Amino acid sequence: MEVKNCKDCGRLFNYIGGVRLCTECKKKLDEKFVEVKEYIRENKGATIPMVAEACDVSQKQITQWVREERLEFSEESSVTLQCENCGAPIRTGRFCNMCRAEMTRNLQSAYAPVQAQRASKDGAKMRFLDQ
Ligand SMILES: [Zn+2]
Ligand SMILES: [Zn+2]
Repeated sequence: MEVKNCKDCGRLFNYIGGVRLCTECKKKLDEKFVEVKEYIRENKGATIPMVAEACDVSQKQITQWVREERLEFSEESSVTLQCENCGAPIRTGRFCNMCRAEMTRNLQSAYAPVQAQRASKDGAKMRFLDQ
């Protein structure tokens, strides 16, 4: 375990990986996330700047959630992000479906041994749970 400064409040905390935020700031961010998600559900036409304004969250944070596929804007929404590969408009994640399919194909050939390993590990765990 490492001790680091929280990215948000600057306090020292025990860093366990992932986002560099202390427990308190992480909790606050989670609450914000729920608020933003609710807001988007109720205001289907909302744009990212509108959501940022209404929920008091940075546009960057909202975009990040969308990129992480935690948030998704509805079909009616005018919000679109760009596929990081080809620039096609998308509503969630980082890549459009076509690029994603292409990448999955490439990844499958490159990481096939790793995937097989993981699958067998999961298989072992499932057997364990069955007992
Ligand atoms: Zn903090
Ligand atoms: Zn694309």
